[in-house]
Amino acid sequence: MPISRKDLAAAGSPEALVKRILQAEPNLPLPVPIQELCARLGILRIEDLDTAGFEGGLVTDAKRSEGTILAKPGGEPRRRFTIAHELGHFLMAHHVPDQPGRFMCKNSDLLRVKAKEGDQRQRREVEANRFASLMLMPPHLLREAMAAFPEPGLQHVLALARDFGVGKETAARAYVQYHPERIAIVVAGNGRVQRCYRSLSFPDITCAVGGPVPVHSLYHGDPHRPDIASDIAACSPDLWIDVKRDLRVPVLYEQVYRQQNGFAMILLRLEPVPEESAEERRLEEGWRHRFHSGRR
Ligand SMILES: [Zn+2]
Repeated sequence: MPISRKDLAAAGSPEALVKRILQAEPNLPLPVPIQELCARLGILRIEDLDTAGFEGGLVTDAKRSEGTILAKPGGEPRRRFTIAHELGHFLMAHHVPDQPGRFMCKNSDLLRVKAKEGDQRQRREVEANRFASLMLMPPHLLREAMAAFPEPGLQHVLALARDFGVGKETAARAYVQYHPERIAIVVAGNGRVQRCYRSLSFPDITCAVGGPVPVHSLYHGDPHRPDIASDIAACSPDLWIDVKRDLRVPVLYEQVYRQQNGFAMILLRLEPVPEESAEERRLEEGWRHRFHSGRR
């Protein structure tokens, strides 16, 4: 592995950093050897972290001459993400820790995908997460892996998680972002919506975070075999999205994956609405105009 810190000069954003690393390491194997990369880039040690309430940490100096990463012991995919996140803090010189020389990150930091405007702490956590995700799931390898199965499906998310050595939720987040179709993945815990990830073209999900999974969702349907993705089935779109009355009702599909520990993912897929024929639209607009103007 020939990369060194010199290869990263002047790269400040997560995207620029990962680009440089991938240029220096064009043949990275999967899962990405994150610990070896750390060693090459100035991390001297990776140690267990046992401070309650924290998932990861980084001990370093302002110049970032070297660093020690702390990661909570536990499942390997989770630990790999924590290590990559802390490496991100280490490589982004503009990240300033709360206390001098020491970053400490909670589970909520490692899940953060959006920052409140002006909140520098949240912003740096979001950047470290972007770095971790791009580093562990390099875009060119992810696209290549996804091209093998164009139809959306949670079984593919599970395969990506396995092959890239990341958690299922990390894989789900990247999956919706890179998939060309209008899809979303809702993460639920013990029957409650916890987080929603959606592609840019997927509409807002109307279910409140923290609220129950809708009663008529496939989630509550036939007992699902644990740890296996269900079949895909059409559902009523207003379970999840706001259906405008004057537009054609879109077709929405659900697929459910449930684990025995209460974790679940629900894939939502919006079928593309076929383009109406010009004649149809003209007629429809004519009717609507008459209706609104009250003429007969
Ligand atoms: Zn952090």
